[in-house]
Amino acid sequence: MMGLMQQWPLLIHKVIDYAALQHGTQEVVSRSVEGPITRSTYAKVRQNALKLAQLLKKDGIAPGDRVATLAWNTARHLETWYGITGVGAIYHTVNPRLFPEQITWIINHAEDKLIFVDLTFVPLLEKLQPQLPGLKRYVILTDAAHLPSTSLPNATCYEDWLAGADGDFVWDSFDESTAAGLCYTSGTTGHPKGVLYSHRSNLLHAMANSLPDAVGLSSTGTILPVVPLFHANSWSVAFAAPMVGAKLVMPGPKLDGASVYELLETERVTITAGVPTVWLMLLDYMQRENKTLSTVKRVMIGGAAAPRSMIEAFERGFGVNVFHAWGMTEMSPVGSLGTLKSSVTGLIENEMFDVKAKQGYAPFGVEMRITDDSNNQLPWDGKTFGHLKVRGMAVASAYFKGDGGDILDEDGFFDTGDVAHIDPQGYMQITDRAKDVIKSGGEWISTIDIENLAVGHPDVREAAVIGAKHPKWDERPLLVIVLKAGKTANRQDILDYMRDKIAKWWMPDDVQFIDEIPHTATGKINKIRLREQFKDYTLPEVTKAE
Ligand code: AMP
Repeated sequence: MMGLMQQWPLLIHKVIDYAALQHGTQEVVSRSVEGPITRSTYAKVRQNALKLAQLLKKDGIAPGDRVATLAWNTARHLETWYGITGVGAIYHTVNPRLFPEQITWIINHAEDKLIFVDLTFVPLLEKLQPQLPGLKRYVILTDAAHLPSTSLPNATCYEDWLAGADGDFVWDSFDESTAAGLCYTSGTTGHPKGVLYSHRSNLLHAMANSLPDAVGLSSTGTILPVVPLFHANSWSVAFAAPMVGAKLVMPGPKLDGASVYELLETERVTITAGVPTVWLMLLDYMQRENKTLSTVKRVMIGGAAAPRSMIEAFERGFGVNVFHAWGMTEMSPVGSLGTLKSSVTGLIENEMFDVKAKQGYAPFGVEMRITDDSNNQLPWDGKTFGHLKVRGMAVASAYFKGDGGDILDEDGFFDTGDVAHIDPQGYMQITDRAKDVIKSGGEWISTIDIENLAVGHPDVREAAVIGAKHPKWDERPLLVIVLKAGKTANRQDILDYMRDKIAKWWMPDDVQFIDEIPHTATGKINKIRLREQFKDYTLPEVTKAE
């Protein structure tokens, strides 16, 4: 027997309709690409999204068409997402940090018909344009006063374009499983693969993320997503904030410590979210300039492992509550959150930081398991590590156009490619990417554990561990360090600091100092490039033996 409740499809436009009705005057503040801080509201975002939808339809954009965005976090970018999905088309967020060849490749692979582009990226698109035959219109996200002269064909000024519509438009209606967004994985090996979110998955994911034990959003709070809209679906903030009517502060192109700090303070932000490299810049700035945080209560760190020292620096130094999050593009992206559940409250500070350094537990809607190489499930004992697999309401079932073939196992679980252990309380800790784990004498060594420990040394700014060839052990850990400006710790200092804090056989065999560690387009340590950089390196012990 079926239930007798209404069918109310979970469609994205319902979020902005709701926000405009119940929280219409709530602000959406942006640091504009042109420079000044601009102020909008949810009512205005909706009005512009309606105009945008009207114009897209007039332009022949049909349900299922892909429309690209190459833009920073601003109210305009937000408007494009709601306008595009309001006609049943699909927003395709292009990550500007990808290599130009990858950008060309994904725009062509997605068969994007139109692109919304920030001023910053106009020169880049001018170069790529001859190889982008599918793009019929380039809408430049600016006003007439700032419109550059450009070689882009059919270039359109966003504000003028919108002014040509009256917004008298009724959102299209369709099944809630209709595709809504497309985001490509960073593709460190081979071509990037497209993850195709649906209206339903985006809304369920955003609802789960706004809950108090998750990101914890509220109409009385203000969120600043440093995480870009082009990185893994903006960690749901683009939907979750309007869904609860939270004030939204968009940082635009300026993600340096001073600029982010300024917005946190002037806009009285209560919660902010971003990757560790961004927080490194903010912490550096605040420590150097002797700043304090007056309104921020919570900092969400995800996208790469947050070292315990970073969590402590925020909590002890600035009195904010830090929580760790893990996820991936394929998971919409949030897969776990490191907030403290009732069974781990009341811990002494040191133990609490141990829990917070883990990537957290799965929220409702995400199932998690760890398995060995033969897909046998492993115990949740906080020690045994294995392949991390997930299943859930906002997890990909396949890649766009079937790339990569069948990606689920016989139980419908997706292999994340991460290696992790899970403790009896359900807290999961990533120990590595499966491709990065060091295999020493048949045993696995976690590179993330060593990196997190090394950055606890007061002189160390960033650390990365890669495997170096060893004739007896196969691979041994090589620790690569970037020191803080003006600091002088040497190899021995670092090794002395680490000794007795990890198993003896996990200790790096050598430490190398470099000026900069390479990062990927989504802010992670680029181990492939680092391994290339050290391809001719030999461990000192091996050199001696030769
Ligand atoms: P992306 O799809 O670009 O978001 O990358 C997903 C991958 O980033 C995951 O599979 C992890 O390897 C890594 N990752 C994301 N969040 C974390 C985290 N909190 N700690 C460690 N690794 C993370």
